[in-house]
Amino acid sequence: MPVQLKYDDDVTEINSFIHRNKKVPETPHRQQKLLHKWESSKDRLHAATRTDPEVVEAWQLERVSLLVDYAFRTHPFYNKLYREAGFETGDIVSWDDYKALPTISKQDIISNSELFKNANLSPTLAECYSSTTSGSSGNVLTSRFDTAMIHQDTMQVMRYLDQMLGGQRRPYDLFYKIYVVSPPFSSLMGKYPQFTLSNDCPPELALRHLKQVRPAILGGFATYLERLCDLVTDPSALGIRAINTNSEASTEAQRRRISQILGAPVSDEYSSVEMGLIATQCCEGRYHIVEDNVRLDVVNSDTDGMGEVVLTSLINGFMPFIRYRQGDVVKVGSRLAPCRCGSRFRYLESFLGRTDQQLTSRTIGNVPSDLIMSLYDRVLLVPEANLAGFQIVQKKVDEILITVVPAIPALGVNTALVQAFSAGLKELFRDADLSINIEERREMPPERSHKRRLIKCEI
Ligand SMILES: [Zn+2]
Repeated sequence: MPVQLKYDDDVTEINSFIHRNKKVPETPHRQQKLLHKWESSKDRLHAATRTDPEVVEAWQLERVSLLVDYAFRTHPFYNKLYREAGFETGDIVSWDDYKALPTISKQDIISNSELFKNANLSPTLAECYSSTTSGSSGNVLTSRFDTAMIHQDTMQVMRYLDQMLGGQRRPYDLFYKIYVVSPPFSSLMGKYPQFTLSNDCPPELALRHLKQVRPAILGGFATYLERLCDLVTDPSALGIRAINTNSEASTEAQRRRISQILGAPVSDEYSSVEMGLIATQCCEGRYHIVEDNVRLDVVNSDTDGMGEVVLTSLINGFMPFIRYRQGDVVKVGSRLAPCRCGSRFRYLESFLGRTDQQLTSRTIGNVPSDLIMSLYDRVLLVPEANLAGFQIVQKKVDEILITVVPAIPALGVNTALVQAFSAGLKELFRDADLSINIEERREMPPERSHKRRLIKCEI
């Protein structure tokens, strides 16, 4: 049985745009283990979404209590943090106990990266899965995961794919994702295949390939799928049965258009590298919190109930994220009857201010934010860039301010790479005269709102 399936037989030009997981070997042993886990636990995972909310909360409390004790005993960062807070093991017996624990931010992890690096005997840093992101906040963080966590995370995604399809995915149904990196598994011993295409691939070429491989599920940035939609004349030639949008804010109108043109329902996800799936949209359009993946609370809420999200990953013991403030601002829906989709998981009623991330060019109008992220990922999110923080702010239609913060201040940010990013930005704006100012600072400027955004429009 091949470990990596091939999907480039007839459209060979696609080859240079295929993302393959090369960091951690995708061995038959690991695929086999995960296949076994999925087959033996998928029914339970689906049943969990229909579980009484009180039972779910009790399970979560037990889980966070064990996780906090474990982190306190073994993890240098959490041991110091909780010791200073007067914590001792066995203290978490109610949600009030949990909420009394200090919260942490991305910056806390970055500032204490040595304590995080040395927290595990195995796997070593070279052997574990890792992902470096800026997220939407602009601060660079490397998250690390072991195989056990990756298995759980992958199964959460597999359950979500079933939910999107409205029933169990057949083992040969292809999940085709257009994204910036590949997932850890491309299939499970040939079953449940996933193919990942770079969003730098021209949509014309992607469309030809889609017609050839006919995926059951298509996922990607809404802005990429929109470019694809501009070319589609016959959706039945693609055979797509469900569509997922992720990683950038999209409007309901955008998703409706994608759904109409591609002829399949669209589900949006709210996720992050650190947490995996946080909330996923059901067939009723509700963003259900993935309660068996994360514990989600809201702090500092205003009179409308909008407040900052605080998250604990319930599946990551390798690099624990406990009471982690990701910066997003949300409102949790009031708990009523089960949703018509069957889920009893809580849901998010709204997200705040994700629409001010759209940049505008004087020649082409809206600039696709996924391509800016992709450029950023490729050029600046590399160790040689020496970047700890980054923000791009559009001041005027022809003026951009890029703020950079070096990781090692004495070295400064790599000027050549910042220049390459500027040049790429001008191309994306199709505006050679676009004025780009670069400002290097010791730290990112403070923000009035809860969250700093990587891309911000101030026009
Ligand atoms: Zn629902």
